[in-house]
Amino acid sequence: MINASLNQLGAALAAKKISSVELTQLYLNRIATHNPVYNAYLTVDAKTSLAQAAAADSLLSSGNAGPLTGIPIAQKDIFCAKGWRTTCGSKMLADFIAPYDAHVIEQFNRAGAINLGKTNMDEFAMGSSNETSYFGAVRNPWNQKAVPGGSSGGAASAVAARLCAAATGTDTGGSIRQPAALCGITGIKPTYGTVSRYGMIAFASSLDQAGPMAKSAEDCALMLNVMTGFDERDSTSLQREKEDYTRDLHLPLTGLRIGLPREFFTEGLSSDVGARVQEAIAEYRKLGATIVGISLPNTRLAVPVYYVLAPAEASSNLSRFDGVRYGHRADEYTDLADMYEKSRAQGFGEEVKRRIMIGTYVLSHGYYDAYYLQAQKIRRLIAQDFTDAFAHCDVIMGPTSPSTAFNLGEKGDDPVQMYLSDIYTIAVNLAGLPGMSIPCGFGASGTMPVGLQIIGNYFEEARMLNVAHQYQLATDWHTRAPQGL
Ligand code: GLN
Repeated sequence: MINASLNQLGAALAAKKISSVELTQLYLNRIATHNPVYNAYLTVDAKTSLAQAAAADSLLSSGNAGPLTGIPIAQKDIFCAKGWRTTCGSKMLADFIAPYDAHVIEQFNRAGAINLGKTNMDEFAMGSSNETSYFGAVRNPWNQKAVPGGSSGGAASAVAARLCAAATGTDTGGSIRQPAALCGITGIKPTYGTVSRYGMIAFASSLDQAGPMAKSAEDCALMLNVMTGFDERDSTSLQREKEDYTRDLHLPLTGLRIGLPREFFTEGLSSDVGARVQEAIAEYRKLGATIVGISLPNTRLAVPVYYVLAPAEASSNLSRFDGVRYGHRADEYTDLADMYEKSRAQGFGEEVKRRIMIGTYVLSHGYYDAYYLQAQKIRRLIAQDFTDAFAHCDVIMGPTSPSTAFNLGEKGDDPVQMYLSDIYTIAVNLAGLPGMSIPCGFGASGTMPVGLQIIGNYFEEARMLNVAHQYQLATDWHTRAPQGL
């Protein structure tokens, strides 16, 4: 059961081979056993989840079930879920009980899915290893000394360790794709504006986008069907017709043009990851694809540009956590200013403070033109690079992450090294494009998963999922699970 696809779980529920209450209990038991090791979940509420499951069982009996009805899904703790503690991985929100549902949560509720619990994450989604969480690091199920990636590290670890059927994540600079790669699962960040950000705690609003993390592309397609949709409460939500993301899964790949950006295969890439990506490309040739050499000339500027723009937006978004409107309030203070200072000093961790400092600096009067405005211009050029590339290819492929999962503590005191973990993913957010990661083999002497990144043109999610699914029909990397589950 724990290795079953979402379609298989749906069929088992429909055929009454298992009830949603039983399935939810099975996962709750697994969480009780394994979560003390992985720390993938921050909050589990068995009573609420089981009540949702009982309601789903009634829906199933009455014949009103959808594809995800009764299926237990883990929610990243960045989504407000009514009545649930919602921490965003921060001390600031350690006791915050959300009074309303995020649009994503509403969509899952409407679909009759079960909220199995809230997953651990880097504080305010700032990080690439899940080590900035106030609630402690998450372990990678493939090697407990290794990080799961971040910021959706709890989600990735939970899917890989089979502690949920599927999970949600968010991706501002790589936080769905990089942990998916490091934990050997499949994840997709959709085109900016496809999934509503309403009720999703903001990090960098022009980059943040939610998406599914699951065992396969087919599962991601089913999740995306639920998560997407216009929502007037998010001013950047796009009013488009509802799509069925499973519609093209079966299509053959004959004639597909895959662009390989030369800038993705240079020094920074570790040789084991490079080799697995080349093998995946060879598999795609067998499936009928042709390979086109392309260039994304501004690739090297993506990380510096992101670390101007994302902190700038974060410094503004995080101003609401002042101990009055939201968040932790210091016990002792002398006056109002002191209360703000102490509350924020106590409530935020190191990385968040670093970003707020950078953000206020680049937005300050004397430096705005030199940094913020300049970064906005380069962001435009980075988006143009992709537009030019897509004139020659249908999808772009390359590594998701420059290396396999690194060890806990390994990059802790070197922020720049940590930031470079996202060198291949960040430009996709800056351009607002959809990107995904699928498992394509193992590196580090065959022990740790490697992710293949697939980047599509705007609104090409269905095609990307088709490209990923056909590979997953031809290979079995996505079915591999860590030992000892
Ligand atoms: N690792 C990047 C950062 O720390 C991206 C995080 C994300 O996508 N949320 O900002």
